Amino acid sequence: HLSGRVAVVTGSTSGIGLGIARALAGAGADVVLNGLGDRRDIDRACEDLSNESGVKVIFDDANLADPVEARNLIVRSVWKFGKVDILVNNAGVQHVNQIENFPDEKWDTIIALNLSAAFHTIKASFGAMKANNFGRIINVASAHGLVASPFKSAYVAAKHGVIGLTKTVALEGAEFGVTCNAICPGYVWTPLVENQIDSTAMARGLTREEVIRDVLLAAQPTKRFAETEEIAALAVFLASDSGKSITGAALPIDGGWTAH
Ligand code: NAD
Repeated sequence: HLSGRVAVVTGSTSGIGLGIARALAGAGADVVLNGLGDRRDIDRACEDLSNESGVKVIFDDANLADPVEARNLIVRSVWKFGKVDILVNNAGVQHVNQIENFPDEKWDTIIALNLSAAFHTIKASFGAMKANNFGRIINVASAHGLVASPFKSAYVAAKHGVIGLTKTVALEGAEFGVTCNAICPGYVWTPLVENQIDSTAMARGLTREEVIRDVLLAAQPTKRFAETEEIAALAVFLASDSGKSITGAALPIDGGWTAH
């Protein structure tokens, strides 16, 4: 039901972004993949998605920590496919450390990638979406856009910012068929989570097993990690025609985390 649509998914060479790209392609949209990683693996991912779904899949290597690259991702996508109907701002990184030891450059990178990149891609796509009377902007925020945890100052600040940006864009797009929503996952088992276990263990003086049980899953009443497919299914719904009245929302998929 998304055939004829063009989707740009940032940070889609891995984890949640790749899951969303696969699901949008499965629903019929042509997709622009973006992110870091080994070029051969990425080319294989493009081929797999396009073979699975019969849609066009291309890759753009924009480094979204750079505002010019973020804008150019949209410019190149429009040049390639003629338009962008669905924009998924998903690229993000994490850094775990006490505030007094939190490196300035990690703060700057996380704000640039997790927050400002979404502003720049939205700014570059918004006028044409309004003119087309159709647009679906989906920002992958986090449960950490709604509540905080210690040792994640930059990430929590950026994700709260993404939700504020989401609401503003929703209001500006509302009369033009352009929706903007934030998806707020709890813990999903991806490389981003795997990579923070050791630093969390260090910051809290715990073992890896204790971090998984007593920090990560302790936050999540369901006591299980969500799967990328669950996040992707909501993104597909928001992108569909049925999603047209959902806008400005911050939608948790967090196993009940933000309920308490
Ligand atoms: P991941 O590490 O598997 O994927 C991150 C993606 O971002 C990769 O494709 C990576 O190449 C890309 N990326 C990193 N730096 C980039 C840059 N400078 N320019 C362009 N792309 C870049 O992580 P994930 O868990 O799939 O995270 C995806 C999003 O979901 C992030 O915004 C993250 O904050 C959010 N999130 C994740 C979880 C979780 O538990 N995994 C929970 C809530 C929110």
